[in-house]
Amino acid sequence: SVGASARVDLDGNPIKPLTICMIGAGGFIGSHLCEKLMSETQHKVLALDVYNDKIKHLLEPDNLPWHGRITFHRLNIKHDSRLEGLIKMSDLTINLAAICTPADYNTRPLDTIYSNFIDALPVVKYCSENNKRLIHFSTCEVYGKTIGSFLPKDSPLRQDPAYYVLKEDESPCIFGSIEKQRWSYACAKQLIERLIYAEGAENGMEFTIVRPFNWIGPRMDFIPGVDGPSEGVPRVLACFSNNLLRGQPLKLVDGGQSQRTFVYIKDAIEAVTLMIENPARANGHIFNVGNPNNEVTVRQLAEMMIKVYSKVSGEQPPETPTIDVSSKEFYGEGYDDSDKRIPDMTTINRQLGWNPKTSLWDLLESTLTYQHRTYAEAIKKVIAKPVAS
Ligand code: NAD
Ligand code: UDP
Repeated sequence: SVGASARVDLDGNPIKPLTICMIGAGGFIGSHLCEKLMSETQHKVLALDVYNDKIKHLLEPDNLPWHGRITFHRLNIKHDSRLEGLIKMSDLTINLAAICTPADYNTRPLDTIYSNFIDALPVVKYCSENNKRLIHFSTCEVYGKTIGSFLPKDSPLRQDPAYYVLKEDESPCIFGSIEKQRWSYACAKQLIERLIYAEGAENGMEFTIVRPFNWIGPRMDFIPGVDGPSEGVPRVLACFSNNLLRGQPLKLVDGGQSQRTFVYIKDAIEAVTLMIENPARANGHIFNVGNPNNEVTVRQLAEMMIKVYSKVSGEQPPETPTIDVSSKEFYGEGYDDSDKRIPDMTTINRQLGWNPKTSLWDLLESTLTYQHRTYAEAIKKVIAKPVAS
């Protein structure tokens, strides 16, 4: 359309349509990024993933306005010779593929390390060798624990931002011991970041690294027993949504004292679009993408989700709204946690002028409205069905 072709970048130059090889396009973030690129830009997407359920609505029927601009390639990047060809055909590669649910880090550490490091290696290599730009998805978890978490509990320094705010170019990466296998993910992500950074430094590869801070919204993960395994443990948004949909208490791991900042997926996708369309401002940088204004403890998150769900569903909250569980019981041996995650926003602000907009209440309201509409009926059926014996 005329509107779309008249779009300009942050320096006022017209944006040329790109071909983007998006690996992991069928996941939570990928589905939102594809949606944005189809509805608001003229870019083409080669969507690579082993699943396409979350982007089916963009692929079919073939009279969609963006027909022909998105094609799905079902492949596993672990072993598929088509990968290099697809990267060569593209101007830009975005790698989202990963095992990235904490329940896997300590129980499937080998799969976690292979997925986040070994499987990402050929992608980096093909980009470097073919002079292609790479946007790689890392994680805020590479920061690990805050420096402040090692201070005495009553130390006033714990209130000083110098001891907890996470800065791309200054903060150290602080992980637990090796037997705390939780950190297998963070460590694999850190090493691939270092490798990409080195490809930039030694071979001139154009790269951008994204560190998401708890992006949440519709289509995140799965609801156990409905569109995922009944024994599966997704990330906290889907765990709590599942409990709310079933009228069960929300489980607070180790007292729910850990702190997180949550950002609405749609705000975060704006930041990624700016990176895609402003390479001169984004190349060579590592960006925190989060919302420092939306900080809560996991307990406060549970309390807010209970209120919001009651509002959007019209149902009374359960008698026992939350219960405490130990991390060992919930995640098993080797679990550990990040204590606090406040992103410093200086770099993304300076380079791309990006700021998050949506408050925690508002993003939970739209997300839980979606969860209720999508799953409430399906859950009733699952609950009504007698368990096969
Ligand atoms: P997701 O699990 O929904 O998406 C990942 C996608 O990659 C899935 O669709 C999966 O099928 C695909 N994939 C995995 N291995 C693959 C392989 N070998 N071949 C082909 N496809 C494969 O997760 P997400 O939340 O969309 O996360 C995307 C990226 O962002 C990940 O790298 C993750 O580590 C990072 N990240 C996300 C968050 C967040 O807040 N959502 C936070 C930190 C980091
Ligand atoms: N958590 C919880 N109950 C749940 C699921 C998660 O208390 O049912 C906690 C978890 O221990 C962690 C936080 O919620 O402190 C966020 O977990 P998530 O899986 O979303 O990923 P993380 O932010 O740790 O990467």
